[in-house]
Amino acid sequence: MPLLPLKTVLDIDPYKGGESTLPGVAKPIKLASNENPFGASPKAKEAAIAAMANTGLYPEGSAAVLRNALATRYGLDPGRIVCGAGSDEIFQLLLRAYLGPGDEIVQSEHAFLMYRIFARPMGGVVKTAKNEGKRANVDSMLDCVTEKTRIVFLDNPNNPTGTYLPFSEVRRLHAELPDNVMLVIDAAYAEYVNRNDYSAGIELAGEAENVVMTRTFSKIHGLAAMRVGWMYGPASVVDALNRVRLPFNVATPAQAAAAAAIADGAFMEMSARHNEKELERVSGAIAAMGFEVIPSVGNFVLAAFPIEKGRTAGDADKHLRSRGIIVRGVAAYGLPDALRISIGSEAQNDAFLKALGEFAGK
Ligand SMILES: *Cc1c(COP(=O)(O)O)cnc(C)c1O
Repeated sequence: MPLLPLKTVLDIDPYKGGESTLPGVAKPIKLASNENPFGASPKAKEAAIAAMANTGLYPEGSAAVLRNALATRYGLDPGRIVCGAGSDEIFQLLLRAYLGPGDEIVQSEHAFLMYRIFARPMGGVVKTAKNEGKRANVDSMLDCVTEKTRIVFLDNPNNPTGTYLPFSEVRRLHAELPDNVMLVIDAAYAEYVNRNDYSAGIELAGEAENVVMTRTFSKIHGLAAMRVGWMYGPASVVDALNRVRLPFNVATPAQAAAAAAIADGAFMEMSARHNEKELERVSGAIAAMGFEVIPSVGNFVLAAFPIEKGRTAGDADKHLRSRGIIVRGVAAYGLPDALRISIGSEAQNDAFLKALGEFAGK
């Protein structure tokens, strides 16, 4: 009998990313992975191409160019930043460094799937706290904390619901956690949020000994293909992650592209303004068709469908696919009756709304 993987590995439901192809459709409209419809800043692309001159050489292992660019942009100490191959890698590194067999993580209902996917092979136990409506609830998250809890993950805003916790609630969550529990604030969509009571958590990660904030270049920066994310937090966490990460975990063109992207404030601003306008338009139009829309602050929106035959989320998905449009089913997130729709270009959103309108009118 051949060697078997660990039971903790076989227990994982593998992550399924948003699909990008449809049989028989040459160019499907992909609104399934919360990508930036404009792609990346031209400056980021130029920087990546220029960096291709040096592909014979290993990358600078600490991603200093990128850490310095981030430090300049946000006024941070570059020594307290770690870059990774997407923020996914940062989650994995945190769990590898801090979670032992039998240790627990706490997350909200409908939390981003990667936390539990990376916690399981460490032998970790996942505690999921009930939401209030579609929003994370600080009290129920705190109720899940035991002496075995090592890390509390909060994706703020949450993917896939699009809801967020005001910063006062994040501060309360932190204040009531024991010192030996780490709070990881995953702020993948922070740049899209236009609410006065929201904060990505940079201040908290700067001052507390047990708070880490993660960010990504995959969303507003349009660099999902380059795989770049980063964390900011206590020096002790930076030291731990630098011990467990691969020595050359961020490719040179990816470092260069991300450093150029973070310096291009105009591109970010343009992307955020577009999203603001289109998120409101798309949300309003879906609601006007009679479907429940969860108010979102991200670059995507969750719509709930009836359970009656012919009207379900699965039926809607099938109809959209027949029109060449791919959105995201979110059953794996515990939301079998909903679809998550990324905000695309104006033309993509028009096509989506037209197709959903046909479905609604059937
Ligand atoms: C998309 C997303 C990320 C980003 O993952 P990367 O590995 O950086 O591409 C992180 N957290 C949440 C909640 C996301 O939706």
